[in-house]
Amino acid sequence: MELNDDQKTLQDWVHGFALNVMRPVAHEWDEREETPWPVIEEAAKLGIYSLDFMANAISDKTGISMMLVLEELAWGDAGLCMALMGTTLGVAAIMANGTPEQQMEWIPRCFGTPEDIKLAAFGVSEPDAGSDVSALRTRAVYDEASDEWVLNGTKTWMTNGGIANVHVIVASVDPSLGSRGQASFIVPEGTKGIRMGQKFKKMGIRASHTAEVVLEDCRVPGSCLLGGKDKLDDKLARVREGKKATSQAAMATFEATRPAVGAQAIGIARAAYEYSLDYAKERKQFGRAIIENQGIAFKLADMKTRIDASRLLVWRAAWMAATRKPFLNGEGSMSKLYAGETAVKVTEEAIQILGGYGYVRDYPVERWHRDSKIYTIFEGTSEIQRLIIARAISGVHIR
Ligand SMILES: Cc1cc2nc3c(=O)[nH]c(=O)nc-3n(C[C@H](O)[C@H](O)[C@H](O)COP(=O)(O)OP(=O)(O)OC[C@H]3O[C@@H](n4cnc5c(N)ncnc54)[C@H](O)[C@@H]3O)c2cc1C
Repeated sequence: MELNDDQKTLQDWVHGFALNVMRPVAHEWDEREETPWPVIEEAAKLGIYSLDFMANAISDKTGISMMLVLEELAWGDAGLCMALMGTTLGVAAIMANGTPEQQMEWIPRCFGTPEDIKLAAFGVSEPDAGSDVSALRTRAVYDEASDEWVLNGTKTWMTNGGIANVHVIVASVDPSLGSRGQASFIVPEGTKGIRMGQKFKKMGIRASHTAEVVLEDCRVPGSCLLGGKDKLDDKLARVREGKKATSQAAMATFEATRPAVGAQAIGIARAAYEYSLDYAKERKQFGRAIIENQGIAFKLADMKTRIDASRLLVWRAAWMAATRKPFLNGEGSMSKLYAGETAVKVTEEAIQILGGYGYVRDYPVERWHRDSKIYTIFEGTSEIQRLIIARAISGVHIR
């Protein structure tokens, strides 16, 4: 159950970045609600925003290293963490669906270099297709004459949407097959027919850019279909014959990223827990520290218990993914569900412990609460996680 020396060193190093680079500017970028380029530049200079760093963290055979990194970065600030990590959504999609050649070609282009930073984005959600991924309307039509795919549709809520250099878009090739008729496409930088729609003003993680992306007769080379045309044709043929598809483009990506989302939620919860524990020891009312009241101390006991339980679920799911154990009981979903709801609960309790001071922007606790809420919504809402777990444990197609 103990971290090894490499993991501890990594954890300390990223914690230093979170403490010294992220924490001091977290409030400013939340207020500015803009992409925090200086923070990304600093992370790139130090090597945290880089392909090498991510590859190294992911290569840990226990799966835990990446969870440590994400928890520490989100402890620093969740909005800044998303600004740094939004790229990994696109990268995860390329890793899950791309051929080895496509991975070699495109993943380095998602990060760029410290002198020339690049971003990536991943677009599944649409105005009328959120939880129900099978309802995607974005179409990809193959133009055999030019060996190009033509993409049309509107993606919404895209992290880094419209400002990314590499957009990975999930589109329907055969709408009659629902999610099994979908594929993922790279839209390279400079491609005509892709543009940013509205940029959203959000409740939390405001340093992370979230926007619509509109695709109008957007033509990408045949080589931009992740996995290649032969594999797609093969998959579609199998599905049409009524056989099981080996992969569903969007789902394959989400499976791999759910524990990672949970790890970020833990980082926010831990930040709020630590802050409110210190505060409860300092703050005096009725002539004694407020922590001397069971009403406050028991809250902190519950907060810490939930955080530790969440971390165990996240580490287990990360370990299962890294060692290729099948998620027979929806363990990936369990980790994201519990950690996300823990972050909301713990940050709310932290506000309660700070009283009026918890409710104002002079203190970070209200920001942590605003930031926490997205963790019960994106990458599958809490209800959808429960649906996945319930179906997995029961074998019943629960609606
Ligand atoms: C800040 C932010 C960043 C995001 N980043 C990305 C991104 O980079 N890429 C991307 O593709 N998407 C992204 N998303 C989209 C996100 O994944 C979706 O918002 C999410 O999947 C929910 O979809 P929806 O908002 O359409 O809600 P809906 O699917 O309309 O759900 C509304 C409510 O109904 C519930 N519900 C729906 N179906 C069921 C059911 N069968 N049973 C019970 N309850 C149900 C949901 O749980 C929810 O409570 C982002 C969203 C936000 C807000």
